[in-house]
Amino acid sequence: KQITKSFSVNGEKLEVLQAIDLEIKSGEFIVIVGHSGCGKSTLLKIIAGLETQDSGSCEMDGKAITKPGFDRGMIFQEHRLLPWLSIEKNVALSLEAYDKAERAIQVEKYLDLVKLSDFKQAYPAQLSGGMSQRAAIARAMAPNPDILLLDEPFGALDAMTKIELQDEVKALHQKEKSTMIMVTHDIEEAVYLADRIVVMAANPGRIRDIVTINLGKERDRGSIDFTIYRK
Ligand code: ATP
Ligand code: MG
Repeated sequence: KQITKSFSVNGEKLEVLQAIDLEIKSGEFIVIVGHSGCGKSTLLKIIAGLETQDSGSCEMDGKAITKPGFDRGMIFQEHRLLPWLSIEKNVALSLEAYDKAERAIQVEKYLDLVKLSDFKQAYPAQLSGGMSQRAAIARAMAPNPDILLLDEPFGALDAMTKIELQDEVKALHQKEKSTMIMVTHDIEEAVYLADRIVVMAANPGRIRDIVTINLGKERDRGSIDFTIYRK
């Protein structure tokens, strides 16, 4: 509600977000698009609790978000796995609150979901870009967060891997019913995945328009209605 955020750049005040209002329903898949520098990552970080707004409030179920929590998992463009820990240990990092036996079950379940069970003992340097991103998804999802925040998660991947991971994220969303908020520069990806697309204006970073995609229609890759481009 009315989220405002500025940064000081070279002594000058840069207003990045101006009175942003956005309401997201539980279980929605929201995709945020907009020009580079319009404040998409800043907004995501505020929701994650990694950045604090200057004014306005960010609430989840009526409770103010003030710091990061395991109820919100975040996936960045680069995987940010710890290189000195095996894949299973990286995933287990997000499961501090679980006892040992439960932790093992969750690690197993999510590595299986992202098709990395055979690589649990491997180290991040031994995985491809797509596999590393899968491990990051498993790590973010293992504690069953209510919200998953994805900041250009597939931006650095090749086209084929990207398509695979889009389908995996879509399947995970349908299966786990978690709320997804993804930032992307790929309009086709946005249309394929989103229940709702949020378009942010370049300057200031206000939300200019919210494009709602018909929820009733099952979207296959081949059946995407590209009239949205002309809207
Ligand atoms: P992109 O699509 O390129 O990732 P974005 O929409 O995610 O862009 P942000 O990363 O949110 O944009 O940045 C918005 C603006 O705020 C940019 O001008 C950026 O330089 C500035 N900014 C972001 N974080 C900081 C910071 N910690 N300190 C100063 N300026 C910042
Ligand atoms: Mg960004």
